[in-house]
Amino acid sequence: MMRNTDTFVTATAVPETTPFWQAAQRDRLVLPRCGDCGRLHWYPRGICPYCLSTSIAWQDSAGRGCVYSVTIFQRDGEKTVIAYVELDEGLRLLTKILAHNPASIAIGQRVEVVFVPDTDDQQQKIPFFRPVLDKT
Ligand SMILES: [Zn+2]
Repeated sequence: MMRNTDTFVTATAVPETTPFWQAAQRDRLVLPRCGDCGRLHWYPRGICPYCLSTSIAWQDSAGRGCVYSVTIFQRDGEKTVIAYVELDEGLRLLTKILAHNPASIAIGQRVEVVFVPDTDDQQQKIPFFRPVLDKT
């Protein structure tokens, strides 16, 4: 069973997450997979949470999933959609959903990754998600 070890990924660079951010820079979402037990895990870290192996490899994600849970923050009239997205690979990421109509984002909705330059540091792209318009 997957453990509830999800956490929000920030753009703070630490060695264990460097491959993740380098891939994001090239519009690729990559997920850490243990080289010993073979399981995917989230968040990125230097030690497998299942078997404590330090053999961590990275694999490409298709970048699609479903909204698992969602909440809307409102500050100064601006709404921000924060959601757990369950990737098709099975991992849940806490992330931001970019939506023209925040109230339209619903649990179970299909979303896809989109890479957006950080508002503070334009040098780094951050993976967020947006609704998938087609039904595939
Ligand atoms: Zn492992």
